[in-house]
Amino acid sequence: MRSLLIPLLLLAACQSPPESLPESLPESPRFLGNTACPISGRPIDPAAYFEHEGERVWFCNPDCAEKSASEPEVWIARAYPEARPFGNTTCVVSGERLPLDAPTVTWQGHELRLCCGTCVDVFRSDPALFVADLD
Ligand SMILES: [Zn+2]
Ligand SMILES: [Zn+2]
Repeated sequence: MRSLLIPLLLLAACQSPPESLPESLPESPRFLGNTACPISGRPIDPAAYFEHEGERVWFCNPDCAEKSASEPEVWIARAYPEARPFGNTTCVVSGERLPLDAPTVTWQGHELRLCCGTCVDVFRSDPALFVADLD
């Protein structure tokens, strides 16, 4: 317990804002999913989703999620019509530098860059693990 005191004090000291804070602080926690039900357009229920090959689509209620789960590709495409660059500057799996021709994967409307094909495979095996790690 006692050893926590010093880091906490340092943290408190750091909170007096430096002059040059970035304009937009990252949202926290960072939710990388759709926020509107692709069927009704209403806000999602965080507990109402289906998962297909590592991607999740959220719906406004469990009925929507259940009905949609039989055609996952359709609803994934509708929930994430375009992929925006995620903006990672190092490999999301290994933390390595990205080569100029870094391979990309698209996941829940985000285009992530990885350092090599092996990392692509590792990422695909459990995407949420690596994306959650980034913050
Ligand atoms: Zn719905
Ligand atoms: Zn990598």
